[in-house]
Amino acid sequence: MVQKFYGLSLKSTSATRLYTNLDIPETWDLLHSHSTEEILPKMMEIDKSTQGTMEDQMFYRRRTLQELTGIRHDNPTDQDFVFTTIATIDRLEENIQWWYMSCDVCNKICTKESDSYYCSYCNKYPDCATPRYRIRLQISDHTGTTSCTLFDEEAKRMLNTSVSVLLESLDGKSQEVPKVIQQLCGQRLIFRFKLNNKNLTLGMQNYAVKKTFVPDDKLEMQYLVDKEEEDLMDDEVDNMLKKGTTKLDEQAKKVT
Ligand SMILES: [Zn+2]
Repeated sequence: MVQKFYGLSLKSTSATRLYTNLDIPETWDLLHSHSTEEILPKMMEIDKSTQGTMEDQMFYRRRTLQELTGIRHDNPTDQDFVFTTIATIDRLEENIQWWYMSCDVCNKICTKESDSYYCSYCNKYPDCATPRYRIRLQISDHTGTTSCTLFDEEAKRMLNTSVSVLLESLDGKSQEVPKVIQQLCGQRLIFRFKLNNKNLTLGMQNYAVKKTFVPDDKLEMQYLVDKEEEDLMDDEVDNMLKKGTTKLDEQAKKVT
């Protein structure tokens, strides 16, 4: 019985988590592998990270930065690898411009050649090019530091303005960073990240931000209290198991 208990345990997470934290991807794998029912066709799958109340979304598979940056895929299955974390924006990464010009045909980045923009992907000068956000941020929490990128849709929503408007406000000095972007520094936010192959295989530390939330202090406090209690309960189970095995060992010694 104890053997089986250990058999189901996932990495460093103690076995009790299996019953309380069903959202971890490994658990879903495990459930699927034990299920006799057919897995729903892919088209029927829903993005669980965007389901439920705002509160559910804010705490969806919450991880610390240390945990997040350690995540790799152990097996190439269709896991969504979406997690949330709470972190503070320390600064903008200096070596990367906060916007880029995108090709209207393929949305990829265009390079400026004299007066027009060239798309190397389409191999031509597109009729139209649109500036889009690409804001690289350095973020940190009590466990670590990493880097992430805010793309057009979410940046537009957060800043409540478009790149074009901001560029106009700079009056031609497009190398400068508008105040509204500089003011992101120091903000503590919840980030929803979707990890990509480079994060998961090479451990590349640049994470795509899918959504941000303004944290609710009360909920965050409650989350920490709950987590602490959960950890304590896990410790209790660990201790019980340890005692159990020690007793078994003693019995085994007596027998021999
Ligand atoms: Zn193109």
